[in-house]
Amino acid sequence: MVTHSTYIAQDRCLRCGGFMVPEEIREVNQLGWRCVMCGEHIDPLILEHRRQMATPEGARQLIAKREKAKLN
Ligand SMILES: [Zn+2]
Repeated sequence: MVTHSTYIAQDRCLRCGGFMVPEEIREVNQLGWRCVMCGEHIDPLILEHRRQMATPEGARQLIAKREKAKLN
């Protein structure tokens, strides 16, 4: 039994406002969320990514990382 309420508070779809149901992600052994209305999928990695993008500093780092990947 995985407890999930402590690290994700995501019970409404950001896209359509539909009801989100917990969904097990076996690869990372964590719970994500799936919208029953439109199928929008949210997982801990996406949430972390959004949190980083929410700050100017985090967004800069992600963009810098992407630029570097392009060069390699
Ligand atoms: Zn939705």
